[in-house]
Amino acid sequence: MPDGGCNIAYAALDRHAHGPMASHTALRFVTADGWDGDLATRDLSYAELARLARCFTNVLRELGVGKGDRVFTMMSRCPELYVTIMGALRNGSVVSPLFSAFGPEPIATRLSLGEAEVLVTTRAHYVRKVAKVRDQLPSLKHVLLIDDGAADGDEPGTLGFWRCMAAASDEAPITHTTPDDPALLHFTSGTTGTPKGALHVHGAVTMHYVTGLYALDLHADDIYWCTADPGWVTGMSYGVIAPLLHGVTSIVDEADFDAERWYRILASQGVTVWYTAPTAIRMLIKAGPELASQFRFPSLRFVASVGEPLNAEAVWWGKRVLGLPIHDNWWQTETGGIMIANTPAFDIKPGSMGRPLPGVTACVVRRHDDGTVSVIDEPDIEGELALTPGWPSMFRTYLHAEERYRNSFADGLYLTGDLVKRDADGYFWFVGRADDVIKSAGHLIGPFEVENALTDHPAVAEAAVIGVPDPTVGEVVKAFVALKDGYPADDDTMRSLMAHARKRLGAAVAPKVIEFTDSLPHTRSGKIMRRLLKARELGLPEGDTSTMETTGTMETAS
Ligand code: AMP
Repeated sequence: MPDGGCNIAYAALDRHAHGPMASHTALRFVTADGWDGDLATRDLSYAELARLARCFTNVLRELGVGKGDRVFTMMSRCPELYVTIMGALRNGSVVSPLFSAFGPEPIATRLSLGEAEVLVTTRAHYVRKVAKVRDQLPSLKHVLLIDDGAADGDEPGTLGFWRCMAAASDEAPITHTTPDDPALLHFTSGTTGTPKGALHVHGAVTMHYVTGLYALDLHADDIYWCTADPGWVTGMSYGVIAPLLHGVTSIVDEADFDAERWYRILASQGVTVWYTAPTAIRMLIKAGPELASQFRFPSLRFVASVGEPLNAEAVWWGKRVLGLPIHDNWWQTETGGIMIANTPAFDIKPGSMGRPLPGVTACVVRRHDDGTVSVIDEPDIEGELALTPGWPSMFRTYLHAEERYRNSFADGLYLTGDLVKRDADGYFWFVGRADDVIKSAGHLIGPFEVENALTDHPAVAEAAVIGVPDPTVGEVVKAFVALKDGYPADDDTMRSLMAHARKRLGAAVAPKVIEFTDSLPHTRSGKIMRRLLKARELGLPEGDTSTMETTGTMETAS
């Protein structure tokens, strides 16, 4: 930055808006309306996006929102998303994206934990998820609705986003920020407790840039498509920031997944670099070879995938159907950027996540009961993936949870919670999670959050939630529920419970399967043994059950 500071939005946007990239298309929106086989698009140049971002910086300033204040987004991929993120970062405010498929409960939890001061969203999301609990969110001062024609007060206590924008000047000097100033807050889930707010700083931008180059091979003349949802970290780091940093044209599909639409976008928009996820790839595979054979992708140069294990077959499917093998890479919310990758510079090992990027030091460790770890040097031995701290996009804390943050380190290493093996060539192979979090359609789901919502139902005495393997979405959420006396384990209770969970959590997080059981297995200290339930579900050995208190008898009613 000219003043010697560091701001993600300066590097991603302001820098281009006044240079040779000004008129270059930053974002090409493929609109959702009227999809009947034809795609309609609209473009936003770097200069225009920057102008709108400056207006939004002024909207925040007019509202008295400043450096460090938290600005939350809850919307799908639309221009307002990019304008809000960039405008807020320019203002030194901290941006936190919410997954818009979350139901009211996960949304309220995150707004509250993150002490949201501003929420930019749609009227429908606001009315369904926030309005009723607004009085329980004292920090939330301003809600801006992005709907066309939204006026101030349309919903009590809301402002019209575009009304505010129209009144704002487009002259807004960027706030001075340093590499260590907070910029982004991403919520993620653990086995227990509330969601964890991983806080990232402006200095992360160097990692977004470098990984965009080394792991995704981004160059200014690329047409790049990242399919990640903007409510999760990939949607931010590689859906918003990295492509803008590299001056590419990003394709932004405003509609939901549709196999034919996706092939058509790849082909007709001339996508050169595609970053997607295993669930999407499996859905394309499921749509069959006939559909795929109607399209050609001569512009495509590089394809990468993240978020879940990508099996070797999917890598080769890429080669057959897209003409290119798929490069798997690994990272997580806490790392802020790609850490391990099959890069364009080296041979892919299909089924592996690749090797640590330059500057990243990764190893495999064994945890000991006393909290220490030892590094496993020999190849092909399973252990936990650990990283040497210090990369720029590393999270700086879990908001208001210092102890949880400290507990994710041992002997100077950051422990990722993933079980892996490293082969003799230095490639890492994913084995599974070391904890009980669930990955469903690429979304990380905390079992505790789901159990909490279930136990709020009057019929439920206790609930335990696990992920069970699914051929398309990786894992689906399954709940074991013990009912209170007097509640029958019948279809009516099941329906009522399913409806309750969907309403509270949203369909993306609610259990897909519920099984009634007389009781749940506990440790002697009272913790539910999810691992045992999972082992039983999968017909695997039950492992060490010496700490178990009772063994519940299962009775399936679903
Ligand atoms: P999130 O923090 O929501 O991005 O989820 C991160 C988690 O997703 C990681 O800790 C892994 O468990 C999983 N994950 C990410 N990338 C991969 C990959 N390439 N292969 C297997 N699992 C992955």
